[in-house]
Amino acid sequence: MMGGQISAIEVFSVTIPQEETYLGTLHPDEAINSAGYFVRKGNRTIYPAQMRSAVVRVTLDNGAEGWGETYGLVAPGAIHALISDIIEPIIAGRSPFEAQAIWEDLYDLMRVRGYTGGFWLDAMAAVDIALWDLQGKLTGLPLHALLGGAHRLRIPAYVSGLPAPSIPAKVDLARRFVDQGYKAVKIAASVSYDGVEREVAALREGLGADIAIMLDCHWMYSPAEAIALLRRLEPYDLHFIEAPCKTEDVAGLADIAAHASVPVAAGEEWRTVYDARARLEARAVSIVQTEMGHTGVTQFMRIAHLAQAHHAKVIPHATIGTGIFAAASLHASATVLSLPWHEYQHSIFHKASTLMSGRLECTAGHFSLPEGPGLGVCPNAAFWDHARKLG
Ligand code: MG
Repeated sequence: MMGGQISAIEVFSVTIPQEETYLGTLHPDEAINSAGYFVRKGNRTIYPAQMRSAVVRVTLDNGAEGWGETYGLVAPGAIHALISDIIEPIIAGRSPFEAQAIWEDLYDLMRVRGYTGGFWLDAMAAVDIALWDLQGKLTGLPLHALLGGAHRLRIPAYVSGLPAPSIPAKVDLARRFVDQGYKAVKIAASVSYDGVEREVAALREGLGADIAIMLDCHWMYSPAEAIALLRRLEPYDLHFIEAPCKTEDVAGLADIAAHASVPVAAGEEWRTVYDARARLEARAVSIVQTEMGHTGVTQFMRIAHLAQAHHAKVIPHATIGTGIFAAASLHASATVLSLPWHEYQHSIFHKASTLMSGRLECTAGHFSLPEGPGLGVCPNAAFWDHARKLG
């Protein structure tokens, strides 16, 4: 086997100032607290005022380096604690080519205590991405080749979020993307301050019949409310409805799926194939929204394969990151057959592209795959201006 054993794992917290708060300008009753967070009233979710992420570097005894990343939006110190105290001593000396075996070994360590999600799985995801990056660096192969081969080298991007203060401004912003070649836009009900129906109706009117319009509900509705909302939205031909009810309510999600005339999408909060299995077996989703920053490469692929076996589509989630898990998500997405779109958060992806060496590009409605071995991207000088080593 190609040489190199895991010798060190470092964790970095990266904080990047941003002009606009996530999901758009703060509402008058939303404020940034002393720790730098605010809570969106619409979806009752905490966000950092600045873009933040947790990045890991795995170094082998031969000096090779692999990069991984997970959510560092809140409490990035938790990721460091889990990696330095549990993961690093357990996997030191092993080969990055054992990434899938390592994932199983780590997952088993904490099952009996109920750690089947959350920060523990996030920490595992970051390390898993770095091990796959190392496999690529050691073999000279891009990640998509290690995962079985790309079906496509350009991935259709849907525009996610229209951060503008009014419905006409949102339609204008969407129109600008459509003019550049994008064919799909998604809005978030949690920031539809003038009403979801009015917003969807205005977008359909402004964009015409050929543009796909998706609605992210941020887990806000009861199943009955979601079913009623979908009835009212029928004239506007939604492409999918996302996260309509609470993640805990699998039967409720299945109920919505049974009554809805549009596909139900969910999955950005899932960590493992077990989360996917429960929803797919219940026929609660027909679109699975894998999030590389939570799943790592190993679980992203297992979820995608299970979705495919259930004839569900995979439309990966994209969120705040520095570009590392975004690159991993694009490589993995290239290898999944039934994958019509990948989410595109334009301001975040553009910022990330300035922090990475290597190609991170989305133009005219399509992502390009990064080139080169492994992920094909790694931190550049601008990244290091914003990174702080933890521990
Ligand atoms: Mg979402």
